[in-house]
Amino acid sequence: MGLLNGKVALITGGSRGIGEAIVKGYAAQGADIIFTYVSSEEKAQKVAEEASSLGASVKAIRSDAADFSQSEELVKTVLEEFGKVDVLINNAGITADTLMLRMNEEQWDKVMNVNLKSVFNMTKHCLRPMLRNRGGSIINMSSVVGVFGNAGQANYAASKAGIIGFTKSIAKEVGSRGIRCNAIAPGFIETDMTDALDDATRQAYVDSIPLKRLGNGKDISDACVFLGSDMSTYVSGQVLSVCGALNT
Ligand code: NAP
Repeated sequence: MGLLNGKVALITGGSRGIGEAIVKGYAAQGADIIFTYVSSEEKAQKVAEEASSLGASVKAIRSDAADFSQSEELVKTVLEEFGKVDVLINNAGITADTLMLRMNEEQWDKVMNVNLKSVFNMTKHCLRPMLRNRGGSIINMSSVVGVFGNAGQANYAASKAGIIGFTKSIAKEVGSRGIRCNAIAPGFIETDMTDALDDATRQAYVDSIPLKRLGNGKDISDACVFLGSDMSTYVSGQVLSVCGALNT
């Protein structure tokens, strides 16, 4: 008996990295899943096949979370195919790092649109079905950088801090209707991004983390399982740091 049996989850950015781990973690706990990607068609289909083999119904759909009407179409498709959305995980995110003096308008807009506007788009279109269903759990992927700030990431940090304000506001706005909204703030998580680090930089990161290791996708997926399941029915409006005590 999985912790997510009978639940339908909509996950943005499930083709790689943390999103891929969440898709597989949710499938292992019995959820039916629709997840999105933008460019990794082959990888997304492979993730869908692997997750389906765990017994869940899993479908990958190309949909740009930064696009309001594509997000609307996506939610319509989920409702047609699965009838409801129990858990929305706003995971899709990008970086375009550079110092403020060099940052151009395009780098600012792109990061804000993919990381923050996407959370508005998806939440906006999922709220009505969640209200009809008298419940739901929304999980927004922030970052420790949204709490601390980081030189060279003003656009990314602003988008991740914006997610925290959005999360707390939605928790207050729809809590009385049984809908919960939480954010997760991952620390340094091993993904394609961290694979590119040289050994010295990687060791410097590890040294700064009290638990003395980088996080992995499963660490974040497990937190998502908790927040999406009935194990957390009295948890809402919170930012759960999953960072090996870095944010302490
Ligand atoms: P990743 O490996 O780069 O994967 C990003 C995922 O998002 C991919 O599936 C990508 O699809 C998808 N995506 C990108 N733009 C999209 C869009 N416009 N619409 C829909 N999907 C889109 O990233 P990650 O490291 O797993 O990070 C996942 C989330 O955790 C992000 O929000 C990130 O900011 C956050 N986070 C990560 C870390 C870390 O250390 N890795 C730390 C803190 C927070 P394609 O494959 O098709 O491009």
